[in-house]
Amino acid sequence: MSRRGPLQGAPPEPRPAGKPIGGDSASAGEQAPGPKASEWFSETGLRFTCTRCGACCTGAAGFTWISEPELAVLADHLGLDPDTCRRRYTRSVHFPDGRVVLSLNERGNGDCVFFRAGTGCTVYDQRPRQCRTWPFWKRVVATSDSWSQSAAGCPGMNQGRLVAADEVRGIASDDGLPG
Ligand code: SF4
Ligand code: SF4
Repeated sequence: MSRRGPLQGAPPEPRPAGKPIGGDSASAGEQAPGPKASEWFSETGLRFTCTRCGACCTGAAGFTWISEPELAVLADHLGLDPDTCRRRYTRSVHFPDGRVVLSLNERGNGDCVFFRAGTGCTVYDQRPRQCRTWPFWKRVVATSDSWSQSAAGCPGMNQGRLVAADEVRGIASDDGLPG
């Protein structure tokens, strides 16, 4: 799956990490003022159940954005203070508009630092929001074309649980990606 844009750019492409090994579908976000009822999926909803293939957490590098509150939760889980966790597991990405956003580190092969073969995400319950909301990201659900492009790299899309349009909108409205 194509997961990344350049390391610097605006905005950098996030890693479409969803639910790596384990889990089925994204958790619902709050219902949002969301898209109009005329959206392309409004009548049908969208299907997704993770197949646990691990593709979205491995391979070509990408960005897995993590907020400071999420970092604090992760650090607590790992028994680290937030600064140590930040230094050890994240990198700062500079946006052209001046923002600096943290992204999880990757290994040399592009795998997320928290991915382990055979296990999947080793911080599953503390994973960043963008990992929870895949594939119902704003940019992914924006058009049927963007959905189809993403589905080409994610076998969990277009199969499995039917997620109603309202739920899709709610998740997309708070997908965890830097705006
Ligand atoms: S099915 Fe999709 S979300 Fe699940 S691990 Fe594979 S690429 Fe990631
Ligand atoms: S934190 Fe977990 S779910 Fe998110 S990219 Fe890393 S291994 Fe995948």
